[in-house]
Amino acid sequence: MTVQFLLPKWFDLHVHLRQGSNMVHYVQAQIEMACAGVLAMPNTLPPTAKILQQDDLPYWSLEEYRQMLLDAGADAFEQLIVPLYLTKDTTPNMIEQGAQSGLLQACKYYPPHGTTNSDHGRPLANFMENGVFQAMEEYGIVLCIHGEKHGLKGPDYFDSEINAERSFYEEDMVKLAVRFPKLKIVAEHMTTKEAVAFVKKGGNNIAGSITPQHLLYTVGNLVQGLRYHLYCLPLVKFNADLEALRQAVTDPKNTKFFAGTDSAPHTKKATECGCAAGCFTGGVAPQLYAEAFEEDGCDLGAPENQEIFKRFLCTNGPNFYGFKPSEKTFMLSKTPDVAKPLKMDNGETVTPLPVGLERPELAWSITDIQS
Ligand SMILES: [Zn+2]
Repeated sequence: MTVQFLLPKWFDLHVHLRQGSNMVHYVQAQIEMACAGVLAMPNTLPPTAKILQQDDLPYWSLEEYRQMLLDAGADAFEQLIVPLYLTKDTTPNMIEQGAQSGLLQACKYYPPHGTTNSDHGRPLANFMENGVFQAMEEYGIVLCIHGEKHGLKGPDYFDSEINAERSFYEEDMVKLAVRFPKLKIVAEHMTTKEAVAFVKKGGNNIAGSITPQHLLYTVGNLVQGLRYHLYCLPLVKFNADLEALRQAVTDPKNTKFFAGTDSAPHTKKATECGCAAGCFTGGVAPQLYAEAFEEDGCDLGAPENQEIFKRFLCTNGPNFYGFKPSEKTFMLSKTPDVAKPLKMDNGETVTPLPVGLERPELAWSITDIQS
């Protein structure tokens, strides 16, 4: 008999929905994979880095970007969180203003120049010293972390024994957690065993999100044939890291690790002089997560394993952010499906990760999405 089970609709607690006319398609791709809500990243152009439209700064406000998302179809979501992009202009007063207006639930730390549209980021130490993290701790605002040390030269940036994420979690994050013991922190799109160890060791105020690609692939998959559709930041790492990530999500006691796809659409992935960072998993993420669980030997035909999967995909995230898991459901079935490119109005397409890896076949499919 075909394995199939009912799940609550899930929350994607890290996704890029960008700006402009393509947004409607990106939102629709989330809805088609039974996503009940999102945390939509603020590295838009311009960045979403102030609270109200009237505030005198050259950025989009949470107010404006939320409205753009709602207009693009995000009004179908049960939850829509837009974190504030932390820049040189972020002040403790803005945190207070955001918290009191009800618009601010989270802030996003980007290492300067660390990834797509992260040029406005400032070093972590800035916010430790200027009162911003202290204000966030006071008001219960979640800190979403892109955890990589910035400004490293090649050999320190990525090597078998050392990399930008490992240094960041072993050095900077330890200091941060000691200095602000009540600050709610999400280690986003974790890729290393060191990041997993950091989250496990931390209190209940520290959690982590993991993408499908980091649960499925290692750097070997990226470099063999230079599969640039798997190029995302932080980079996929080594086997020991993959195992630590899989162990974290398939642990029957997992309360700290949850889904955040980091799905990042690019209509042009390869450019003249490089490659845009980000894997697009709109439409296919729960299916890929299910595949990763099974690759780790977690048979999703067994009810106890379905429960573990549900916690990772559907309930741990809402519990951490403090909202209710969805009461609506969808069916995940082990029947084959095929991933397809996403078409934009102007004829451009976005390639989902499985298509980019030339294996568009999906082992799992989604049906019966309750609207
Ligand atoms: Zn991201």
